[in-house]
Amino acid sequence: MTDLPPLYYSQRHSLPVLPAPVLHTPGGVPYLQRPGVAVLAVPTVDVTALQGFLDGFDPELHFGAYLDDPTLLPDGTQLAKTAGQACYASYGPKRTQNAEAERYLHDIMESGHGSVLEHPNYSLHVYGVSRSLTHELVRHRAGMAYSQLSQRYVSGRVLRFVERPEFAADPELHEEFIQDIEHANRRYEQTAQKLYERQAQGMGILSAKEKTDLRKKVQQTARAKLPNEAEASLVVTGNVRAWRHIIAMRANPHADTEIRAFAVAVYRVLSSLDPLFFTDMELALHTDGTHIVNVAYPKV
Ligand SMILES: Cc1cc2nc3c(=O)[nH]c(=O)nc-3n(C[C@H](O)[C@H](O)[C@H](O)COP(=O)(O)OP(=O)(O)OC[C@H]3O[C@@H](n4cnc5c(N)ncnc54)[C@H](O)[C@@H]3O)c2cc1C
Repeated sequence: MTDLPPLYYSQRHSLPVLPAPVLHTPGGVPYLQRPGVAVLAVPTVDVTALQGFLDGFDPELHFGAYLDDPTLLPDGTQLAKTAGQACYASYGPKRTQNAEAERYLHDIMESGHGSVLEHPNYSLHVYGVSRSLTHELVRHRAGMAYSQLSQRYVSGRVLRFVERPEFAADPELHEEFIQDIEHANRRYEQTAQKLYERQAQGMGILSAKEKTDLRKKVQQTARAKLPNEAEASLVVTGNVRAWRHIIAMRANPHADTEIRAFAVAVYRVLSSLDPLFFTDMELALHTDGTHIVNVAYPKV
């Protein structure tokens, strides 16, 4: 349980990815044992767009110097810093330079004035997570957006399951998990089949005329047979303030182990992209062998 999977990078924009392998039961039912997290979208920032705005001030203020900063920052970090500097018109030579961005952001986090961290948004594609994890994740509303796989609109062909770390680590519980998901998979298919048959026999229990509508009504009924271990992939977008809050709440010893592994993965991909947003956080090993993230400023 202590090994952390390595980070990979996407082909086009080198965005960090933590893939999760898909395993199969002897009966061919697919399942995963850890979250897969891929950064799908990040901010793009071009401060030269401020040229016209800065040119409109008294030349003696030398606001144009803002565009000549020799230190390049990751786009998200630059966005938060520029947003913060907009508050005090800090564009002249005496402003905080990009080279001091770490201290600048640290001061923001320490003082709890985190609203500038709401500008950079990061979208993640997430899979290998269970329906019980997503039920907890979507409770985080402020600054977050979710698009989750619909169990009503997709058929059993994309059905996969997620094994909890506790089951994966115990041969007996692992074997039970394998049997449980094979059984759940079978029950789902059998129930869907029975519902279609009843419809074909004119028993009309689903009152659906269109083929797509019927499929949706069969699937929404058959999914009652699925356990919490059904996979629920999703795209999640959040701003850095909200992601930091999720990491603080969920990469925490009090959080459920599955969502904790997910929050640790989020911390790893986001901190590899824009490390200055996470300088107060530290990956650590918990007494149970899992990883947690210690956070100095949990509520910014
Ligand atoms: C270990 C653990 C155990 C939990 N157990 C349970 C449980 O047994 N039952 C249960 O129902 N839930 C439980 N939860 C969920 C928890 O109560 C929160 O709903 C969830 O963590 C979302 O966090 P949040 O409230 O900070 O919301 P977010 O949406 O993440 O909001 C971030 C912050 O924005 C502010 N905010 C957001 N919305 C509002 C608002 N409407 N009004 C004012 N301020 C707002 C708050 O300061 C909030 O902390 C648990 C969570 C954890 C981490």
